[in-house]
Amino acid sequence: MDCRFCNLSRDAILLESNGWQVVADLHPSTDGHVLVIPKKHYEVLHEVPKEELTEGMELVKQCQLVLLRGLNAKGTQIRNNYVPFVNENAYVVRHLHLHVIPFYEPQDFKQLHNRKELTPQILEKLKLIFKEYDKQARL
Ligand SMILES: [Zn+2]
Repeated sequence: MDCRFCNLSRDAILLESNGWQVVADLHPSTDGHVLVIPKKHYEVLHEVPKEELTEGMELVKQCQLVLLRGLNAKGTQIRNNYVPFVNENAYVVRHLHLHVIPFYEPQDFKQLHNRKELTPQILEKLKLIFKEYDKQARL
């Protein structure tokens, strides 16, 4: 498969576990922005079996620690984008990856946010669909 994240150079890997690896983001939001990537090709988070996910989150945790301690980051953001409606390009790779982004200044965090208000309609809809999901999950 012609997938950038299935064909990572060994030199690029900063840290790895059995099934996951960490590389620097080539288009970082801040200095130290890294990606935690499964070695197996998954496109979306809900495809990953629980044990593999646990292993990946362990690596995310280690990245957070390394960035806080090693780069003196004051905070982090952990993020995953699933955007199948966007064509693959320099910024979009259709192979699951979790972003770990360090923050150094309050401004780093603030500039990510352009938020709107939660409406009662959306809140009601969310309550409904989660309740329905929870009911099905217990069957
Ligand atoms: Zn891949």
